[in-house]
Amino acid sequence: MATAHCPKCSGVIEGSLAEITRHIKVCGRAKKRGGAQLVVPMATATVVPVLPWEIRVPLVIKSQNQSMYSHWSTYTRGRDAWQAPLGILLRPVAGLRLPWSEWRITRVWGPRNRELDYGNLVGGAKPIPDALITAGVIVDDCPANFSCDYLQRKELQESYTEITLLRTAHERPADSIH
Ligand SMILES: [Zn+2]
Repeated sequence: MATAHCPKCSGVIEGSLAEITRHIKVCGRAKKRGGAQLVVPMATATVVPVLPWEIRVPLVIKSQNQSMYSHWSTYTRGRDAWQAPLGILLRPVAGLRLPWSEWRITRVWGPRNRELDYGNLVGGAKPIPDALITAGVIVDDCPANFSCDYLQRKELQESYTEITLLRTAHERPADSIH
């Protein structure tokens, strides 16, 4: 069970992660486009969990390239769908403010989805590093601070996204520090 605020209707949603995600996805009661702020109660972690650390988000990365994102409302809608589930799932690492970290984002696509080309995969996944910044997990997603592999895998039953924290600065190989 978890609690989150819906960015569309401003209501409090209680339930499983899948239920919260589904509410935000289908909620049509947008009061103010782009104006509502999603508030997820945030714990602050102090210790990096055992690595690799992985979460599974019940959402699939949509094909959204940079030109589609050029309209702010399109990106805001896409980002809002990820904020609540990620706000909850990222609690064990929220607030770590990792100065360098290596991640892997795996788009697992099933029925009614298809494989994306690499540019659209990275572009469509943009809400994820944004949520990592919002949750205070990473300081920012510039290449000096954030390294990420973007993968795809087909699965017959369902679509979801795996987000894996592989390494932090503590495990950064010596030959990459100059
Ligand atoms: Zn709602």
